[in-house]
Amino acid sequence: MKQIILAMLLMLQVIAVSALNIEIREEELRFGIPEVEMDGIPYVGVDDLSPILKCINKQDRQDQRLYLHIYGETFIFLEDSSYYSYKIDSYNMHYALKRIGSQYFLPRVFLVEHLPMHFAEEVRYENDTLSVKKPVDHSVRRIVIDPGHGGRDPGAIGKVLGVHEKDVNLAVSLKLKALLERELGVTVLMTREDDSFVSLNDRTRFANENKADLFISIHTNASKSRSSQGTETYYLSTAMTSDARAVEALENQVVDLYEGGASARSVYDGLDFILSDLSQTEHLQSSNELASSVQQNIIAGARTYDRGVKQANFYVLRGAFMPSILVELGFISHPEEERLLINEEYQLRLARTIFEGIKRFKYRYDRIRNT
Ligand SMILES: [Zn+2]
Repeated sequence: MKQIILAMLLMLQVIAVSALNIEIREEELRFGIPEVEMDGIPYVGVDDLSPILKCINKQDRQDQRLYLHIYGETFIFLEDSSYYSYKIDSYNMHYALKRIGSQYFLPRVFLVEHLPMHFAEEVRYENDTLSVKKPVDHSVRRIVIDPGHGGRDPGAIGKVLGVHEKDVNLAVSLKLKALLERELGVTVLMTREDDSFVSLNDRTRFANENKADLFISIHTNASKSRSSQGTETYYLSTAMTSDARAVEALENQVVDLYEGGASARSVYDGLDFILSDLSQTEHLQSSNELASSVQQNIIAGARTYDRGVKQANFYVLRGAFMPSILVELGFISHPEEERLLINEEYQLRLARTIFEGIKRFKYRYDRIRNT
C-alpha cells in the first residue's frame, strides 16, 4: 500500500508541470505553488496552500472531511465530492476534492474562481496571478502562564504537610515556562514569577495587553473529602459576542469557583444558554481541544486519576480572544497527592506532560507549519 502511494506521489511530481502564482499584496511577496493534474484537471495541494494563506486545515478522517479556515471563515469539503459548504450554502466546484496519501488536493478552480467570489475584497485573480490580502497569522507564538494565587493568598493548603497551593502552582509553572521556551521556541510570559499577589483582573488584563495566543492557568485542587484525587482541566473562553451582562455574571461567579465553591456551581446550571452560545464559536472549540490535549498527556504521563475535561467552571477574559485553560494538577487535600505535588521530580513530570499537550495542540493548529 505504501509503495502504491509513493508511486502515485512520484507520478504526481512528474506531471506537476505548471505553477499557480500567488501574490501577497501588502508585502509584494510572490509564490509559485505547484499544480498537479488529475484526470486532466489542475489541482493544488492543501499543504502547499496553507502556509501562504495561513489557513488552518483540520482533517477528519472518520467522515472524510476537510475543514479549511481562511480569513476567519470556514469551508467544509468532503473527500471525492465536488461540493463544499460555506456559511449556510453549499457550492459546486465541478471537480472533486482528492486525497493522495495524507495530502488533500483542491481543484484550481476553487482558488481562482470561488475564493474571489467569497472574498471580493481580499482575493483577486488577475494576470494569471492570485492576488491576496495579507492573511492574519494566528500561530501560537506567545503563551501566558498564570500560576494561581500568590502572596497573601495561599490558595488551598495541604492537610498533612501544610503545603501551600501557590508554591506548587509557581514551581510547576516555572518548569513549564523553561520547557516551552527551550523546546518550542515560543515567548512565555508569567502573570507572576515570584510569591506576589496578583488580582484576577490583573491576570486577565496582562494576558490581554500582551496579546497572548494561549492562556494557561495552573492550580491545585482541594476538597473537604480526603479521598478526592486526580487531575482535571477546565477550558475557559472569551466571549466578545455574548451578552455582556451574562458574561459579567459568569465572571463574578467564577472567583468562587476557583476554589471549588459548590454554591457557585449551582448558578452555572442556569447559564447553560451561554455555554451553548459560546460553543458556536471556533474559539471555544480550540480551548476544548487544548484542554483535552493537556489532560490526556497529564493522565498518560503522570498517571494521575482522570477527572476529565470540564466546561462548566470557566471564567471569561473580557475583551481578549485566545484559547484558555485552567489545569487542576491534583488534590492538595489528598495526603498522597500533597506529598507528590511538592516533590520536584513529580513537578517536572507534570510540567513535561502539560508541555507535551500544548506542543501537540500547537502543531495541529499553527497556521504556519514550517517556521
Ligand atoms: Zn487554585
